[in-house]
Amino acid sequence: MTLFFETSYYYIFNVDISPSAIYVLLETNNIEVKEFLSFYLDAYIIVYGLFLLLLVIISILANNKKLLYVKKPVFGAIPLVLSLIVVLFVLKATPLRHQNLPYLLLKSFYVVYYESGVVNASAYKSEKGIFNNTKTANNNKNKLYVVIIGESTTSNNMSLYGYYRKTNPLLSKQEGLSVFKDVISPHAGTTASLTKAFSLQNHEQSSTHQGSIVQLLNAANYETYWVSNQQPVGFAETEITKLVYACKNKFYLNTQDTEGLNLYDEVIFDTLNDITNHDIDKSKVVFIHLKGTHFYYENKYPDTFNVFKGKPKNNIARYKKEYETINAYDNAVLYNDFIVNHIIDKIKNQNSESFVLYFSDHGEEVYHTISFAGHNDDVGTLPMFQIPFLLWQSGSYKQSNPVEIDLDRPYMTDDLFHSIAHLCGVESKYVNLEKSIFSKSFKKRKRIILNNKDYDSLYAIENKN
Ligand SMILES: [Zn+2]
Repeated sequence: MTLFFETSYYYIFNVDISPSAIYVLLETNNIEVKEFLSFYLDAYIIVYGLFLLLLVIISILANNKKLLYVKKPVFGAIPLVLSLIVVLFVLKATPLRHQNLPYLLLKSFYVVYYESGVVNASAYKSEKGIFNNTKTANNNKNKLYVVIIGESTTSNNMSLYGYYRKTNPLLSKQEGLSVFKDVISPHAGTTASLTKAFSLQNHEQSSTHQGSIVQLLNAANYETYWVSNQQPVGFAETEITKLVYACKNKFYLNTQDTEGLNLYDEVIFDTLNDITNHDIDKSKVVFIHLKGTHFYYENKYPDTFNVFKGKPKNNIARYKKEYETINAYDNAVLYNDFIVNHIIDKIKNQNSESFVLYFSDHGEEVYHTISFAGHNDDVGTLPMFQIPFLLWQSGSYKQSNPVEIDLDRPYMTDDLFHSIAHLCGVESKYVNLEKSIFSKSFKKRKRIILNNKDYDSLYAIENKN
């Protein structure tokens, strides 16, 4: 079975099993595991798995003299030879890697639970955490600030960023929307990325200060809200749930563990209505965690958004199934355009002092650079890091909070804590304006991803030809 898992993993991802790969598998909840398996495990692998299982059974039988009166050496050699042929066939003559799966699994659990940096959940539990002495922001007027967290959406498939299909018909007409062109996520996975985006941890500083943006906003006397279409329990959301535990009002709208029940992201609209219609004298910061464009892509949008059907323009995909995957992804991006735009319109109609910030937790490879669809730090292609980053500001917000908009600034969202704090006008010794993409004091820094690789160098190499 070990051989089966390793070979399958190699077949799917073209890389060895590693802690971060297993981490991605583990951070996925039940429905997602099922989606994951059906998304990647095609008939080829299943047949191969059953075949190996059969060989194992034959071997056991062959080794049991009481059951079979056949000379052991002869019969025992058959499965061995057959296995070898199958392995060579599946790997297409690639040398089989020798890996110790039990060791890797143990190591992965170690990495997940002891090195993730969020383990110290108690640090994120109290309302204000280490930010107790933060000055109250000027909250004597009604402010309505919104941060939308997208899921698995790469800027590469958005027409706002130059994609050939019109996947952003609504957002591209949204007036006064700032589209930042060069923003990346620090990782290709939800937990690792969002942990850094919403806490003081970043690439350089992993756990010296434990504190979340939610705690800082609480300390500055904001009413904080967390509205999520992702499940609060299960591997995907637990670390995030711990991270935003201090949020004063939490709404988890997707807690059904039923397969086939797909709650489209529009499920958040009613809750957002309730939030905007109540306590109108309070200054609010609302975080909205979308399901976005996570695989299974075709389960993320209603039928009315099934728009892109023909053969996509793509140099890497070759099969009908791959074309369908690209089409489904583009349809999911189109639906996401509707969701994000609807939220902006809704906030716009409130006539409050408002901003809406939208970014995706990480990107997604969808046959852009390799024959693969998904996200995974092990495979680690650039589209998995290239994310949309949009800011909409109301007129009154612009007047009282003049922030600097330079759409070309290179930014990595592990410093997002500082940008959000800056947008919300929170002053604290923990907020460093050199790390806010909206500040005139912003300082460009090296963006290190994937085991110490400089993103901009990788980008330069990839775009040379
Ligand atoms: Zn994600």
